[in-house]
Amino acid sequence: APSNPLLKVNNIEVIYDHVILVLKGVSLEVEKGSIVSILGANGAGKTTTLKAISNLLRSERGEVTKGSIEYNGADITAKSPADLVMDGVVQVMEGRHCFEHLTVEENLLTGAYTRKGGRSVVNAELEKVYHYFPRLKERRNSQAGYVSGGEQQMVAVGRALMAKPSLILLDEPSMGLAPQLVEEIFEIVRRLNVETGVSFLVAEQNATIALKYAHYGYILENGRVVMDGDATDLANNEDVKEFYLGLG
Ligand code: ATP
Repeated sequence: APSNPLLKVNNIEVIYDHVILVLKGVSLEVEKGSIVSILGANGAGKTTTLKAISNLLRSERGEVTKGSIEYNGADITAKSPADLVMDGVVQVMEGRHCFEHLTVEENLLTGAYTRKGGRSVVNAELEKVYHYFPRLKERRNSQAGYVSGGEQQMVAVGRALMAKPSLILLDEPSMGLAPQLVEEIFEIVRRLNVETGVSFLVAEQNATIALKYAHYGYILENGRVVMDGDATDLANNEDVKEFYLGLG
């Protein structure tokens, strides 16, 4: 098990609408500076796990009814989403969620609302985002609704970076993107991880790509972790190959 957890999810249960039990005791850890993947089929509970961590379940009529979530050793189970962003925990939602009528750059700037220090700090952060996503710099004045799906995913990640996070919760980055773009996004995730030390918890249905880039992985089935391990071990596991990598 990881020895220096940045994030520790302890046996959480999540219920929607007071009766629908969706997470049935999920535990996981993200070691500082690592990329961790949550794998599983549609409906396994990946999004629910991320939203439990970032406290975004309330608007879905969901709640954590058991267990706890620790970040940097402190209990964050009941922290507001805004306070979590201040602490460095930022979620990139599934489906990218750009403000379509704003430009790419305006979208990025909305990610900096928690930052103190004024325009110079924000500009430095913006330049950092453009360094990792040169395509966004080219498209900075384009309306976000008109850039490609891959570029919108980059906007969503770039927007999260503007908050100077320690942990990015990335939900299904591959969704709806061509394989080459998916690789491009994950390459940038890896570079950000290596060069800036930001940790990632990535929910992904595409196990092949997720295990290629992650250090560690958890497999969720029906609201439970059924397997976890180093990404290379999971990628070589016969059951994982058969059921998740399509190599059976
Ligand atoms: P996906 O890839 O579709 O996002 P997932 O693994 O992320 O799948 P979740 O979205 O977490 O899975 O959903 C897990 C289960 O919880 C599913 O059975 C889903 O129908 C149910 N669920 C999700 N949101 C709600 C909600 N707001 N109310 C009731 N049930 C919900």
